[in-house]
Amino acid sequence: MITTVDTHTCSNCGSANIVRNGHNKSGSPTYHCKDCKVYRVLKKKKTVDMEAVARTYEERNSYRSTGRIFNISHVSVYNHLKKKPKN
Ligand SMILES: [Zn+2]
Repeated sequence: MITTVDTHTCSNCGSANIVRNGHNKSGSPTYHCKDCKVYRVLKKKKTVDMEAVARTYEERNSYRSTGRIFNISHVSVYNHLKKKPKN
């Protein structure tokens, strides 16, 4: 049975006439808007300000403590700082 999601609205047109439509490859639930016919992710994953992560690491915090502060993996901190050009 398909039920409407009454607490969410379409991010494209703002309509509340949306239905759940399974999950995408990474497991996030998707919806289908019946008004503008788009398929989108219902709730975006959290985003972390990676510049703030880099600044926190440069204040002599470790990878793990920086990860704990921002609630991300220490490997994510390491991978971001490895990509970042040194100045
Ligand atoms: Zn829509």
